[in-house]
Amino acid sequence: MSETSPKLRAELEGIPTYKPGKPAAAGGPVAYKLSSNENPYPPLPGVMESVTAAAASFNRYPDMACTALMNELSERFAVPVSHVSTGTGSVGVAQQLIQATAGPGDEVIYAWRSFEAYPIITQISGATSVRVPLTPGDVHDLDAMADAITDRTRLIFVCNPNNPTGTVVRRAELERFLDRVPGDVLVVLDEAYREFIRDPEVPDGVELYRERPNVCVLRTFSKAYGLAGLRVGFAIAHEPVAAALRKTAVPFGVSQLAQDAAIASLRAEDELLGRVGSLVCERNRVVEGLRAQGWTVPETQANFVWLRLGERTVEFAAACEQAGVVVRPFPGEGVRVTVGEAEGNDIFLKAAEGFR
Ligand code: PMP
Repeated sequence: MSETSPKLRAELEGIPTYKPGKPAAAGGPVAYKLSSNENPYPPLPGVMESVTAAAASFNRYPDMACTALMNELSERFAVPVSHVSTGTGSVGVAQQLIQATAGPGDEVIYAWRSFEAYPIITQISGATSVRVPLTPGDVHDLDAMADAITDRTRLIFVCNPNNPTGTVVRRAELERFLDRVPGDVLVVLDEAYREFIRDPEVPDGVELYRERPNVCVLRTFSKAYGLAGLRVGFAIAHEPVAAALRKTAVPFGVSQLAQDAAIASLRAEDELLGRVGSLVCERNRVVEGLRAQGWTVPETQANFVWLRLGERTVEFAAACEQAGVVVRPFPGEGVRVTVGEAEGNDIFLKAAEGFR
C-alpha cells in the first residue's frame, strides 16, 4: 500500500472475499455451469417484457420503497406490508440483519458447513462467528446450536435447505429448537431454496414467523424465480426487526427492473413453479443415478446435490470441467453440483461414473 493510500479498518484485511461459482470457460468444452445454484431456464417472455419496459426509464432512480412489490408480497404471504422488507438479493438482506443486530462482542451462530456468506458478513459487522458442525449425516445439529447460545448471542442462521448439502430440518426438531431460543435472539430461517422442497415434514418458515416474534424468514427471487442476475430478495419479520431492516437498506438498492421482474414473476408463479417441478424431477434422477453408481448422497431438498470427496474434491471438479460441466468445489470437503438441464446433468453423471 502506498503512503498516500487511505487508512482502512485493519480487520477488513483478514476478511475473505465472497467466491462466486466459476463461470463456464470461454471457448472451452464447458457448456454447462452447475456451480452457482442458478435456474437454467431463460426468463419467461412476460418477465422479459416487464424488464424491457422498466429499462426505458433507467435514467430515473427506482421506487426506493419498492411499494408495488412490497404490496404484492404482503398479499401473497398474507402478512402486513410493514413486515416485508426487500433488499439487494437475500444476501443483502442477511447483511442488513446482521448489521442491525450484531457488532463487536456479539455472537452469530450458524451451522458449518453452510452458506459461505454467513462468516463473511458476520466478520464485516465485527461480531464473532460461532460455527456448529453439521452432524455426520450433513444435517443441522439443532441441539448443539441451542447449546451454543450465550448471553452474547444476537442472531442464529438456520439454512433450510442447507447450502451446500441440500439437507433439511423438519418441523418437530425446528419447533423444539425455537422453544429453546431466548426471545431476544433473532432466528433467521434462510429459505432461499424453499420452492424445491417436497418433504411435507419441512415447515414453511412463514408459518413459524406468524407464531414467533423472534423468527425472520429470508427468501429470494434468485433461484426458483430465475432472477439471480437482477438481485432481489426479501425478508418477512415482525417489528422491531422489520423497522431495523428499513433503516439499514441501501438506498435504491433494488433496481426498477428487478422490482418489476419480481412482480411479473409472482404473477407468473404457476408457470415458474412448473419449471421448479421439472427441476425437482431432474434432481431426483441425478440423486438416483449417483446412488446407483455407488455414491453416498445426502437427501437433498434443494436444486443441488452434495458429494463428500475429501482430498479428491479438486480432482473431481477438474474431471467434471474436462467433461464439460463446471461444479463448485469446496477443497478438502466436497463438491456441490447444481441440477440443471437434463443434458448437463447427464454429462455430470457420466463424469461422476468415470471418477469412481
Ligand atoms: N441464502 C442461501 C442459502 C444461498 O445459497 C444464497 C445464494 N447462493 C443466498 C441466500 C443469496 O441469494 P441472493 O442474494 O441471490 O438472493
